[in-house]
Amino acid sequence: MKAPRIKIVRMEAAVADGFVASQLRKTLPGARFEVVDRIVDGSPFDPHLLEVTAYRGRFLRHCPGTRHYLCCGYRILHIGVQCSLECTYCILQAYFNQPNLRLFGNTGEMLQLLEAELASHPHDLHRFGTGEFTDSLLLDPRTRLSSRLVPFFAGRPNAVLELKTKTDFIEPLLDLHHGGNTIVAWSLNAPAIRRSEESRAASIGERLQAARRCAEAGYRLAFHFDPLIEHPDWKGGYGEVLERLFHAVDPANIVWISLGAFRFMPALKSIIQDRHPGSGIVHGEFIRGLDGKVRYFRDIRVELFRFMYEGIRAVDPGLCVYLCMEGEDIWRDVFGTSPEERGGLPAMLDGAVRERMGIVAGKP
Ligand code: SF4
Repeated sequence: MKAPRIKIVRMEAAVADGFVASQLRKTLPGARFEVVDRIVDGSPFDPHLLEVTAYRGRFLRHCPGTRHYLCCGYRILHIGVQCSLECTYCILQAYFNQPNLRLFGNTGEMLQLLEAELASHPHDLHRFGTGEFTDSLLLDPRTRLSSRLVPFFAGRPNAVLELKTKTDFIEPLLDLHHGGNTIVAWSLNAPAIRRSEESRAASIGERLQAARRCAEAGYRLAFHFDPLIEHPDWKGGYGEVLERLFHAVDPANIVWISLGAFRFMPALKSIIQDRHPGSGIVHGEFIRGLDGKVRYFRDIRVELFRFMYEGIRAVDPGLCVYLCMEGEDIWRDVFGTSPEERGGLPAMLDGAVRERMGIVAGKP
């Protein structure tokens, strides 16, 4: 797939000489660089603009789970916001006040905070990821941010980094010293959904080929089937992707696979209809969940999850499979047990890290 076409880089003076800014100057020689005192929210959307700011908020955050559903305890390393892949279902479309691609250029400050956090809880296992408010690798060929993050985590006894993407921009990762602490993760979907709802992202074949190359470079992998979308012959589509996945990579290299059914805040419905009139994803059978989000009826969710779980279990019964934002009752219907019986969902994922990555911190 092609990298986003950035024609203007607007950066705040405070970060104009930082790592990200200097990489951008090298990798985008044809772009116009503008230095301003302060970038404020509310600039009109420009698909060719990249903003680089000195971030003044919380670099380290907890995943925005809710008390109504079981949360995985993942922590966000906040590197930037927005994404130009324009998946029809993307929650970031609701961020009206900040529509442009934006990266935080004070990387050194972020790493200092991270260092302090890891040092202050040396016996806990920390799972961090960058793919919550943007795609982890979308701009990596331009910024080479991975060359700072991946070696930072390398060899840490108590931390892992998950880079989550729908791209195949893995070249910058291949020669890095990762020390076995970085998981490269792909969101996957059925081919028909990829074509209709994720048309700017890498094809499923490109994602799996990239995953295979990362595994060859010694990285551990993860996959996220989220959002699972009910559509004609969904079993055929998702079954095909599972088959291709396990053909492309050895399941022993996979740390976890998550499953999440399509859900959205009600306000996103009209945005999807306006921006993506050809998409039919909001026309399914939905109910309002306890967190206020609209989601498929329970029977549909259970059927989607069971189908996927059975396909995964048939290949690797020991592989950690978890549900994103579901309650204990759905867990029991799908797996026959609840994570609470295994010490909770965060403990389950910590266990997968210890088992498949050989990291020992946080042992109960
Ligand atoms: S890849 Fe992720 S962040 Fe980017 S548009 Fe798609 S859903 Fe949103």
